[in-house]
Amino acid sequence: MARAGLVAGNWKMHGNLIRNQELLASIVSGTQSLQNVSCAVCVPYPYLAQAQLVLGGTHVEWGGQNVSQHHQGAYTGEISAGMLADFGCRYVIVGHSERRTLYGEGNKVVAEKFCSAQERLLVPILCVGETLAQREANDTEQVIAMQLDAVIDFAGIDAIRQSVIAYEPVWAIGTGKTATPQQAQDVHAFIRNRIASHNDEIAADIQIIYGGSVKADNASELFAMADIDGGLIGGASLVASEFISICFAAQG
Ligand code: PEP
Repeated sequence: MARAGLVAGNWKMHGNLIRNQELLASIVSGTQSLQNVSCAVCVPYPYLAQAQLVLGGTHVEWGGQNVSQHHQGAYTGEISAGMLADFGCRYVIVGHSERRTLYGEGNKVVAEKFCSAQERLLVPILCVGETLAQREANDTEQVIAMQLDAVIDFAGIDAIRQSVIAYEPVWAIGTGKTATPQQAQDVHAFIRNRIASHNDEIAADIQIIYGGSVKADNASELFAMADIDGGLIGGASLVASEFISICFAAQG
């Protein structure tokens, strides 16, 4: 990997105070000697204070899994970027396929959330990815291009510099089916080239991470590909030993 790596856990709606304490402490101690790879966990909102307490002052960073496109107001149940920043978050996931599919978030809202996060100095982890039907119809590149362009057009290419892109084929999320390293590499290269068509330097520097059933035993071969700079990890981020191994796999 030419760029520094990033491995981020997406805990989704899992955890409780006791289990989190153990998991966070194990991640901190287990990744102590990690070099040239950033490690982060995106936890459910109620556990941000716990993440801040346990991870503050360590090398492990934390973030949210979603953010409102609005900064304040009558939006019952929503959480703003400023609120995430108040709890020391560095990252926030935007446009995860579960948000797109289950909560109807379209490309425009995702672009607004991306900007809202950056306005409070959070680093958005922008998820893009095709469904199985779209892949089988040979529409993968078209879908990824639309998801990416929606953000570039709305936020401007310079905003992309302060973000992370996560390629997450929907068919690989939580299914145990991983993209082959070459399938993932092809899409990562497509994303990087598309960014390069606006700005070569941003394309060369941006971290593009892969997500979709990454485990300790398949991480190394994925992370060995030229344009894969780490991973967004769901299920395996809930098991300390798995997550720690994946972090070290990103070290090369
Ligand atoms: C995810 O939720 O972003 C994800 C990649 O999940 P999993 O690793 O469980 O497929």
